[in-house]
Amino acid sequence: MLIRVHRETRPGERRVALVPRSVKRLVDAGHQVVVPSEAGLVAGFTDDAYREAGAEVVTGQPPRADLVTAIGPVTHDEVAPTAAVVAFLDPLGSPSEIARFAEQGVNALAMELIPRTTLAQSMDALSSQATVAGYEAVLLAAEMLPRFLPMMMTAAGTIPPAKVLVLGAGVAGLQAIATARRLGAVVAGYDIRPAAREQVESLGATFVGGPVEEAAADTGGYAAEVTEDTRDRQLAALSDHVGAADIVITTAQVPGRRAPLLITADMVEAMRPGSVVIDLAASSGGNCELTQAGETVDVDGVQIAGPLDLASRTAGHASEMYSRNVIELLEYLTDDEGNLVLDPDDEIVACAVVRDGEITDERVRRALEETS
Ligand code: NAD
Repeated sequence: MLIRVHRETRPGERRVALVPRSVKRLVDAGHQVVVPSEAGLVAGFTDDAYREAGAEVVTGQPPRADLVTAIGPVTHDEVAPTAAVVAFLDPLGSPSEIARFAEQGVNALAMELIPRTTLAQSMDALSSQATVAGYEAVLLAAEMLPRFLPMMMTAAGTIPPAKVLVLGAGVAGLQAIATARRLGAVVAGYDIRPAAREQVESLGATFVGGPVEEAAADTGGYAAEVTEDTRDRQLAALSDHVGAADIVITTAQVPGRRAPLLITADMVEAMRPGSVVIDLAASSGGNCELTQAGETVDVDGVQIAGPLDLASRTAGHASEMYSRNVIELLEYLTDDEGNLVLDPDDEIVACAVVRDGEITDERVRRALEETS
């Protein structure tokens, strides 16, 4: 196949979909790889490194590819002409763009729809990028907080450690807990799924007592939306903990839905000036009532950040991890002649949200019907 790496266009995006090491693996397997000049430069990957790995580095209009790979989200016009695309395509958020891929006969593989199975673990880009985001969230908070994170005993006095509260203990939340612990903070975590307690505690953090529900986890490992009653109980249980924290990092998400509300405006009002909230769910509406996506707002001295570029802040490693996810997927889906084979009975092919001109995902079809 001729595989083209997309030059990312989203403002603030610093990652690149394939790094030279992965290019070499694809070239060794008989594929051709084309990379736009300087597409990986800000992530730390030079044109020369791509050439050494066997890629053709191009300036100007790239050739027609059999497959384009991007971080995304990308539009059809951005990646055309191509027969297939592999990227974060935001299928539930942008169903009309998915429809366009279908109309144009482009097989569209959405990295968000890789199933959460043991077999697909090495292809799970949501998890790899959430790891980076969780780590970066703590570094951002540490920078914004006008205090130290670790305890310090100095001649100028003893400084108590900062209190960090992490709401939502999935991949990003657990990484945030681990990172805050490494920086010496006193850390607490909470998640609606009961299984999270042990994971939070195994990282040396305390689990905040709030409602936990066995039914909160669906079969894919994702959380489901909670009832209004549960939400009210959560807010009541979390209120004092939020008020006592120097840093609150929120990561709670439910795929395809608005992020659950875990911090109200009243709870922010009760926080001490100088405290920081980092809301990782900003792109899906935020876990904090006052979050503005892509902005940092100051509410009586409490800083609330809704960053959208956390994974891009460690662009080098984030790209390496994403690239590994992509080639694992491509190697899995190609036959001995190097052609992409999308067997509808294969569970991993569920990520092909468009296959042979058809939209395969029921939720995307429903979203399209609702908008038409
Ligand atoms: P996510 O990004 O979808 O959500 C973040 C966290 O928010 C989740 O832990 C979720 O339970 C929690 N959450 C949702 N609604 C909440 C609410 N109202 N209150 C409190 N917390 C709430 O989650 P994720 O990082 O994708 O991980 C979800 C689960 O999937 C975890 O158990 C993770 O270990 C598992 N997982 C499994 C695999 C695999 O088996 N291959 C891969 C990745 C993740």
